[in-house]
Amino acid sequence: MQTDRLRGVVVPETLKIVPAGSKGFSLVANRRFRSGEKVCFLAGEPVDADVSTPEAVQISDTQFIDTDHLVAEDFINHSCSPNTWLDIERRWFIALRDISRGEEITYHYLTTEWDMEVWGADFRCACGSPDCLGHIRGFKYLTRDEKLRIKPILSPLLREKCEV
Ligand SMILES: [Zn+2]
Repeated sequence: MQTDRLRGVVVPETLKIVPAGSKGFSLVANRRFRSGEKVCFLAGEPVDADVSTPEAVQISDTQFIDTDHLVAEDFINHSCSPNTWLDIERRWFIALRDISRGEEITYHYLTTEWDMEVWGADFRCACGSPDCLGHIRGFKYLTRDEKLRIKPILSPLLREKCEV
């Protein structure tokens, strides 16, 4: 287990990072969150795509929000049925429903990422959701129905690019 990876990572008291098998680590709730509540802040600054890390969040065709060190939100795993969405303008992950203490915090990567395959960041999802998309490659690869399902929680960039 690569616990060294966690050294120096600052985690708010309301959250904690736990080992999660093949996923590496997960960020989990350390108390109950109510639907609509702020769960985790998104730290970082806009950087160009070619210098961004795999944990960065896309904000335009060429820029990502990134940090030069690991932060708590880097441990938020993807789920095709997430319990938070990322409000990029306010820089907060917001609870989509009530979240219990001990529950893993997730967000849908394809609500912010246009094309992960181009960066070699695509992966096989094992979230277990009945709506699981399987191969997570980027918003641009989704079918019309798949795009419509996450339309309400898209980033401003993807909302602009979403033609359905
Ligand atoms: Zn999935």
